[in-house]
Amino acid sequence: MREDLLQRFLDYLSYDTMSSPCNASAGMRPSSDGQEKLLLHLKDCLDAMGIETYYGDEKVLAARVKGSGDGRTVGFMAHVDTADDVPGNGVRPVVHRSFVPADIHLGDTVIKLDENPDLLKYSGGTIITSSGDTLLGADDKAGVAILMECASRLPSCGFPHADVEFYFTPDEETGHGLDSFPGHWTASDVIYTVDGEEEGIIESECFNAAVANIAIKGNAVHLGSARGVMRNAVAAAAFMVSSLPGSESPEATDGRYGYYAADNLKASIAEASFEIYIRDFSYSGLERRIETVRAIAEAARHIYRVEVEADVSVQYRNMKGATERRPEALGMLYSAAEKLSMRLESRPIRGGTDGAALAAFGIASPNIFTGAHNLHSKKEWIALEAMESSLSLVMGIIREAAR
Ligand SMILES: [Zn+2]
Repeated sequence: MREDLLQRFLDYLSYDTMSSPCNASAGMRPSSDGQEKLLLHLKDCLDAMGIETYYGDEKVLAARVKGSGDGRTVGFMAHVDTADDVPGNGVRPVVHRSFVPADIHLGDTVIKLDENPDLLKYSGGTIITSSGDTLLGADDKAGVAILMECASRLPSCGFPHADVEFYFTPDEETGHGLDSFPGHWTASDVIYTVDGEEEGIIESECFNAAVANIAIKGNAVHLGSARGVMRNAVAAAAFMVSSLPGSESPEATDGRYGYYAADNLKASIAEASFEIYIRDFSYSGLERRIETVRAIAEAARHIYRVEVEADVSVQYRNMKGATERRPEALGMLYSAAEKLSMRLESRPIRGGTDGAALAAFGIASPNIFTGAHNLHSKKEWIALEAMESSLSLVMGIIREAAR
């Protein structure tokens, strides 16, 4: 059984599904061909299992395993794309069987034991890494493999259950994963994402997020006769960036603290532009931060006599609200864990997930661990035993939903 899960995972890793933020922003969906190839491959596998599938213009593969009608419909979701932070295509996975905890040498890449103490938990187990030249793609092909394995086991699971739905999305990493969603097809009001990290960690809270696009117009004149005339967009941009509190930056905060982060600064005397990412766990906190950014823009206008536009848009909202409105989402999760004697720990996500986008549809979507570590890096690793425990939890939730 464990071997089936591993073989599925290795199969999906062989697809080049790195997503492209650039193509995604230009409206291409999925943003890379490999993603569609994998989605169609999954569809073929599900069709061969005799499972009902739907793959429409939304480019989200949906599947429904019919049950006996007892209990409630629950859904699960994973994404097929991988990040573009490091090379992500041409992945050559390495399976380390009967693992003896030690530094893992993958060419120039070394996964150090002292930086990865969780490796100690899997002594004697099976660790999967990349060759060291690319990321592995456990984020989120581990989730995909867990859900596909779950779908294949359901018909012979031996307990009655209601319909179970599975969703496989493109472009999660680009932030465009749920630009469209087959809401007309779904019957679930709880859809768990299986896109987490270390074993035992559950996430049901994430940031509220906004981005401020700042555009500054100065006045460029000959520097020799600039006195009282020139208005320097570089100076105004530098003032704005340095006015963001350093103690509230991503590199200075953790836990439940929010932040401001400036990025993509391009500046000349005539004009400057940059973005400010704004994050906060409370929505009122996000609004306060947006006001702060506007106040800094206003100050730059007065001090540097430049034109400043601060165009702010909200990117996603904390999924906590949707989870609180459907307490059964966490209820089923924790009862399942208890019956499996599995200890869970809840942590806030310092980012967003597709779950945050689902919250906008009123769907609760806590995020379940896959067992993956060091995401978006060449040091990414996962233990097969952790994937199996994630699969047991998913099966346990389906069982709880049947009660
Ligand atoms: Zn992910």
